[in-house]
Amino acid sequence: MEEKSIAEKLSEKLVYKQEHAALTLGDDEINAADNFCEGYKSFLNSCKTERECADYFKSEAEKKGFSPYDPKKKYKPGEKVYLVNRGKAVILTVFGKRKCSEGVRIAAAHIDSPRIDLKQNPLYEAEELALFKTHYYGGIKKYQWTTVPLSLHGVVILKDGKSITVSLGENEGEPRFVITDLLPHLAGEQMKRTLDKGIEGEELNILVGSRPFRSDSGSELVKLNILKILNEKYGMIEEDFLSAELELVPAFPVCDIGFDRSLIGGYGHDDRVCAYPSAMAVFDCAVPEYTSLAVLADKEETGSDGNTGLNSSYLKHFLEDLARMEGAEGRDVMRLSECLSADVNVAFDPTFPSVLEKRNSAFVNKGIVMTKYTGSRGKGGTSDASAEFVGKIRRIFDDADVIWQIGELGKVDEGGGGTVAKYIANLDIDVVDVGVPVLSMHSPFEVVSKLDVYMTYRGLSAFFKA
Ligand code: MN
Ligand code: MN
Repeated sequence: MEEKSIAEKLSEKLVYKQEHAALTLGDDEINAADNFCEGYKSFLNSCKTERECADYFKSEAEKKGFSPYDPKKKYKPGEKVYLVNRGKAVILTVFGKRKCSEGVRIAAAHIDSPRIDLKQNPLYEAEELALFKTHYYGGIKKYQWTTVPLSLHGVVILKDGKSITVSLGENEGEPRFVITDLLPHLAGEQMKRTLDKGIEGEELNILVGSRPFRSDSGSELVKLNILKILNEKYGMIEEDFLSAELELVPAFPVCDIGFDRSLIGGYGHDDRVCAYPSAMAVFDCAVPEYTSLAVLADKEETGSDGNTGLNSSYLKHFLEDLARMEGAEGRDVMRLSECLSADVNVAFDPTFPSVLEKRNSAFVNKGIVMTKYTGSRGKGGTSDASAEFVGKIRRIFDDADVIWQIGELGKVDEGGGGTVAKYIANLDIDVVDVGVPVLSMHSPFEVVSKLDVYMTYRGLSAFFKA
């Protein structure tokens, strides 16, 4: 073995360097990561909307001894509760040894993902094809969503108030749906449009049928036939679309990517890839030091507004309820609380290097990424976490051998984005963003690294244990 030079030794001591996680982790931990991701993959296959995620976490919580939260009850250390907000968001809580008024520990992730929503009066017939009109949900590159098999999910509230749950196109043998696109032979004019307008919002129409109702004469018989099928299957009439939330998402299952199976490709990583580890980390808590919560929120992709999004007061009200149980005020709990806002960040893509600043980007396989600030144009619209809080989380991660990295969402003035962090910071809670780096974010088929998913789980666990 050659002796290291003085410069090499000094460089080892002074220079910040981030290694590939696979070069740092032992075989046991790499196997543990792969195993953890098998659970994550099956969760992702069975949960494609926020409602399905909320149901999943509720039923997993019940299996693990969580009971519905009762704001009038006094809870003891180690007791476990869940609160479901309108079927679309969940708070999972394990009570700690210390009082809530000494502060709680929160992991906040979101369970909604970009998708294609139906308009309220969606069904129409054109040239003997039946189609749905849509309004996309969240920030998407619209051209990516054509010619992809789609499944239909959601609820329909019938005239009499009965709620019908819809999930069609996920199981083998079920029909699926699709947005058509123009053939290249005739796309000369379309190809001259900018990518942004390659497919426009009103061109995201879903093909849902083509065969007419046969036993009589009349107009729009293809549409009528679809209504007949919907009536037989769900007991609905056309007017019931007015009180429905129906959503189209990619119908294909997740799969491993790469000869080495190191990556997972699938729909909805943003942000279920942080929601799942957040819930698992809370499920692991027996009797934590501080009361530990996972908040799995809706509406992040449309700006967190609405009563199931984190810009509403449901988390605040929950924390106020915890305070009241102890005869304290909500603000006593909030000002001493700490939160990891668990959301994805962009992973450096060597095919598109120009939008990222390499020294401050996150990379696939370099662990959970900590994002001090998001926002855009001079840090507008962000909660810029304090050096003190970043320093504290850094120590927690390092002490627990969590592999982590920093990351910024793109070059300065390149674009930008936000998370729920600012809404939590606005409650007077210390918060910083952490999460999994993602390739092809917001596309129908996003890609993440298994080691990064596992490191996110380990990081969140370490936070609850600290
Ligand atoms: Mn997100
Ligand atoms: Mn997103």
